[in-house]
Amino acid sequence: MAWDFETDPEYQEQLDWVEQFVRDEVEPADRMYDHPLDMADPVRNAIIRPLQEKVREKGLWACHLGPELGGQGYGQLKLALLNELIGTTLSGPVIFGTQAPDSGNAEILAHYGSDELKKTYLEPLLAGEIASCFSMTEPTGGSDPTSFRCRAVRDGDDYVISGEKWFSSNARFASFLIVMAVTDPDAERHRRASMFVVPSDTPGIEIVRNVGVTGHAGHEGTHAYVRYNDVRVPAANLLGGDGDGFKVAQVRLGGGRIHHAMRTVALVRRSLDAMLERAVSRETRGRTLGELQLVQEMIADSWIQLEQFRLLVLRTAWKIDQVNDYKQVIKDIAGVKVAMPKVLQDVAGRAVQLHGSLGISTELPFGKYVLEGFHMAIADGATEIHKQSVAKQLLKGVEPAPDLFPSIHVPRLRDAADTKFADVLAAAAADAAEVN
Ligand SMILES: Cc1cc2nc3c(=O)[nH]c(=O)nc-3n(C[C@H](O)[C@H](O)[C@H](O)COP(=O)(O)OP(=O)(O)OC[C@H]3O[C@@H](n4cnc5c(N)ncnc54)[C@H](O)[C@@H]3O)c2cc1C
Repeated sequence: MAWDFETDPEYQEQLDWVEQFVRDEVEPADRMYDHPLDMADPVRNAIIRPLQEKVREKGLWACHLGPELGGQGYGQLKLALLNELIGTTLSGPVIFGTQAPDSGNAEILAHYGSDELKKTYLEPLLAGEIASCFSMTEPTGGSDPTSFRCRAVRDGDDYVISGEKWFSSNARFASFLIVMAVTDPDAERHRRASMFVVPSDTPGIEIVRNVGVTGHAGHEGTHAYVRYNDVRVPAANLLGGDGDGFKVAQVRLGGGRIHHAMRTVALVRRSLDAMLERAVSRETRGRTLGELQLVQEMIADSWIQLEQFRLLVLRTAWKIDQVNDYKQVIKDIAGVKVAMPKVLQDVAGRAVQLHGSLGISTELPFGKYVLEGFHMAIADGATEIHKQSVAKQLLKGVEPAPDLFPSIHVPRLRDAADTKFADVLAAAAADAAEVN
């Protein structure tokens, strides 16, 4: 029976190397630049590129991707174990070739890109030489993509894109954007939109402003409000066919959600570790914090939440590896997505509380983690929508009760048992009659 919670020793050795590498190299690197994707920053390049090289030498670059995409084909479970170690750092995903949205965009290009698009964009993206952007959400609302307004109209051998997009992350660092636009407003709701590769130097792309996220570092935001003013792209830049926009988007969204969850495990663990250290270090009224029962409750609750969440993430990753298809694991991924912000906000919130004034200060990261919980609750689909998705999947194919009462109604079960053992009852009754 295959049911094993151990990491194989060979990969564990790799993970031990990663843990040390993150402590010695990646964490200090994080302090040296505004954003790890800003390739115009010479300090960033001088620090990050040699580190990426070391990761490549170790065979850990984009390790979840198949060899055809420059990875090792390790899959999602091994990626989860890796992300648990790099997830507290900003640069880790860039240094290990697992950065969002680039990894998801690479998957889209690998699935749907022409040879030409693969050569021009996928190859340098996988090599970490360029960055990319996924431009789908609109200022009128992201939760209902069937209401999007940005249009792409066919004109000869081109499409002309016009409209606005909101929170297009990393647009200012990107060499290309993958843009969702309505090609047929009269089609069935999920066939209205298509997906395009738009080179970022195409005339007509206007970054209205770069919006920042509360608690994120950097002088300027990285989530672009983009206006596409009659942006002309060749029809060859269409990914999939006309009307395939939703199908193409699904290729990346499943992966994006579970990858965020893997990194969230790292933030939760760091919060708990800090709480433990604090609990044995800080004294009040002659006792350490860890000797106070209410503090013990905080610690126990945090560990239980972390372990529950981590196991759900790992099992979901394992399931994805079994079927190699995010869509078949949609319920589990949605469940992980829903659990993620609450676990992070609960545990990081307790870490803030246990560290008191220092905890809420900018000298510790826990306040930022709590806000990151909102990021996790909103990006890639709001919690409410994923809850509905879990419930719908669970309800699918469930049979109604046979009559007014539930199928496990005790009188029904008793009747069924009486019928099943009627001969035993009859024999017992006959024996009893004989005795009497
Ligand atoms: C840090 C960050 C990075 C992002 N990066 C990108 C990116 O790179 N590319 C991109 O295209 N988008 C990106 N997004 C946008 C993200 O996909 C949207 O924020 C998300 O889809 C929600 O859309 P919205 O913000 O317009 O909120 P709205 O759609 O206005 O929803 C607001 C709230 O309404 C409620 N709600 C909405 N629908 C329902 C429902 N059906 N049932 C119950 N309640 C509901 C929820 O509480 C929801 O949070 C990013 C977002 C964040 C926070």
